[in-house]
Amino acid sequence: SGTLYIVPTPIGNLGDLSPRAQQVLAEVAAIAAEDTRHSRKLLQQFAINNEVFALHEHNERERAQAVITRLQAGDSLALISDAGTPLISDPGYVLVQQCREQGLRVVALPGPCAITTALSGAGLPTDRFTFEGFLPAKPQQRRKALADLVAEPRTLVFYESPHRIVATLQDLEEVFGTERKMVLARELTKQFETYLSGSIAEVAAQVNADANQQRGEFVLMLSGAPATEQQADVQTGLRTLQLLRAHMP
Ligand code: SAM
Repeated sequence: SGTLYIVPTPIGNLGDLSPRAQQVLAEVAAIAAEDTRHSRKLLQQFAINNEVFALHEHNERERAQAVITRLQAGDSLALISDAGTPLISDPGYVLVQQCREQGLRVVALPGPCAITTALSGAGLPTDRFTFEGFLPAKPQQRRKALADLVAEPRTLVFYESPHRIVATLQDLEEVFGTERKMVLARELTKQFETYLSGSIAEVAAQVNADANQQRGEFVLMLSGAPATEQQADVQTGLRTLQLLRAHMP
């Protein structure tokens, strides 16, 4: 049977489509894409004229079966999304899960992804982070989702759209307070790539004051909750107690 290749595509800069990605896309029997028109344009720039068919969130379940049948018949196929890495806030999970269940070979290529690009350029702690994807669109649900993350010690990473960036920054101030450190990465790998960093209040003020800073694509990153002095004291106390116990007869 054939192999399903998961192929990341650029998040802005065409130079980021790797030579390996180009080779795989040129050699597979067909390419499953979120938006076939959008992807054909990209592929044309690399002189790849392969068959492209649609696999998006609305037809993934039914298409997955057709893809599996084709893989079983011996064709190798590639999955791409509009930008970046498939399955990361993009379709593909159902397909990959089913391929794994059927024992089909899945090969994922590394490549462009807004999460790792933003984190590696932001200057916030990266030893541990949690990706939260897109926040709920409805204000009340959004605030609730944020409130659930207040005590999270890992760096928080969100995707955000230009329609909601101002409202989300306002919610962040309300829920996390003005002082928590954050970085807002915008238009990564593109002409107007920008990182705004500082307290939530400082970043919100810069975005509110400049309509240009409200345009494009965003990755929003928030420092994790600081271990409060109180928690630190309790931890030190417990450690001391453990050490003392270990020395007791
Ligand atoms: N699969 C993609 C990836 O690997 O990053 C993400 C797809 S998701 C539908 C689109 C969101 O990713 C955007 O709303 C934005 O939050 C983020 N994103 C994608 N490209 C970006 C870029 N060039 N700069 C900043 N954020 C970007």
